[in-house]
Amino acid sequence: MDREKLKYHRDKLLKMRRELIDKLNERYHDAMSLGEDGTQDAADEAYNLYNKNLMLGRVETDALKLRLIEQALVRIDNGTYGVCIECEEDIEEKRLEYVPFARYCTDCKTELEKKGLIKM
Ligand SMILES: [Zn+2]
Repeated sequence: MDREKLKYHRDKLLKMRRELIDKLNERYHDAMSLGEDGTQDAADEAYNLYNKNLMLGRVETDALKLRLIEQALVRIDNGTYGVCIECEEDIEEKRLEYVPFARYCTDCKTELEKKGLIKM
């Protein structure tokens, strides 16, 4: 991949990372402050717990995404960005455009997902 393109993906990843960190902080704060207004009965409590778990689930997904972004940035630095870590073929340009932190080419991703080995 040429430098121009690498820079393009790098900028995109950095922007994604920044936005994700903001979102994570916000979500985590929201989840933790649920039901802390002190005026809840049992139904409120159950509802809040449900929401809290739902929000924390989303935080987890975002945290995973954040890790993938960090790894992609490392791959840009060490020159292996855009190469599938499974079969070592180039990842399709179209896929990187859509998922700049992709580790696998479409074929490997489909295969690994079928086996239940990866989520993202
Ligand atoms: Zn592959």
